[in-house]
Amino acid sequence: MRVHNFSAGPAALPLAVLERAQQELTDFQGSGMSVMEMSHRSKAFVDIAAQAEADCRTLLAIPDDYAVLFLQGGATAQFAAVPLNLCPNGGKADYINTGSWSTKAIKEAARYLDAHEAASSKTSNFDRIPPFTDWSLREDADYLHLCSNETIGGVQFHDVPAVDALLVADMSSDIMSRPVDVSRYGVIYAGAQKNLGPAGLTLVIVRRDLLDRPASAVPSVLDYAAQAAADSMANTPPTYAWYLVGLVFQWLLQQGGLAAMAERNARKAQTLYALIDGSNFYASPVQPESRSHMNVPFTLPDAALDAEFLAGAEAAGLKNLKGHRSVGGMRASLYNAVELDAVEALCSYMQDFERERG
Ligand code: PMP
Repeated sequence: MRVHNFSAGPAALPLAVLERAQQELTDFQGSGMSVMEMSHRSKAFVDIAAQAEADCRTLLAIPDDYAVLFLQGGATAQFAAVPLNLCPNGGKADYINTGSWSTKAIKEAARYLDAHEAASSKTSNFDRIPPFTDWSLREDADYLHLCSNETIGGVQFHDVPAVDALLVADMSSDIMSRPVDVSRYGVIYAGAQKNLGPAGLTLVIVRRDLLDRPASAVPSVLDYAAQAAADSMANTPPTYAWYLVGLVFQWLLQQGGLAAMAERNARKAQTLYALIDGSNFYASPVQPESRSHMNVPFTLPDAALDAEFLAGAEAAGLKNLKGHRSVGGMRASLYNAVELDAVEALCSYMQDFERERG
């Protein structure tokens, strides 16, 4: 039996994708072998890889002057790869600090360059995107980094101001949940294990003119120019993860693409926030205008009820609702593969729990 899985990542995948992978597991399309058993240089795998890239380009309407890379190391490796590739000889970068993941990105970048916190919502416990009017951007910064969705805090950019700076975004937890104007960014990166597929693969979208910078100290597996020149096969790529991500892309196209996903995701999130806001029992720690459509943290009136809430949820087939250990409370992650009926089941459980305990 499949459960309703609200995990923050690795996270729920579309059942249709898993079933297709299952069907092709031991014999991929008459090849007599699993995708896992294929050389990454074989025609069969090179075709899988190329199709995944083509579908990725279609879904996000990625302009031709951008390279699409399928790398390893997670978004964490990109925290270092971004400064190393964009500023190989050091430099200055501005960072917007909206929570745990931005904080980690800043800390890592500070090892390689002058990383400046241009805005932060830390004093209000990361409950919002800092108002644009408070951003102190440096004119000579080499780039401006932001995290489009804070997976732990549940804070999301719903629009990004027009800035002169080269924009870099960590979209790990909301990539492909809505359309994005890629042409506004220099680099977009995302770990796959939330909205794209299994862990082990990192999507990096980089404007090609940024590949020309002499990348002296960059490890070659993280070197955007080298990986672009090698079609992301400078070394053995995570072939099976790449294949699964390709299946997710096909599923997204069948669902109507990212505009359709954005509508669905907004509906799911609104359903849950409406319940939270309509109750005197549950509360959201995030300001309404900055609330994430992907990760919805919420609290009960007394943390002493948390264990009972979670045990009851488990028993009802509602899994992985415990908030991140750093913030406590609950968190429901509503990625693309989490259907509205899962959210409705959660809401109905929450109402029952409130009736009994409220
Ligand atoms: N950025 C964000 C927004 C994340 O949610 C995560 C993972 N939860 C990371 C970065 C780090 O990703 P990884 O574990 O793939 O390195």
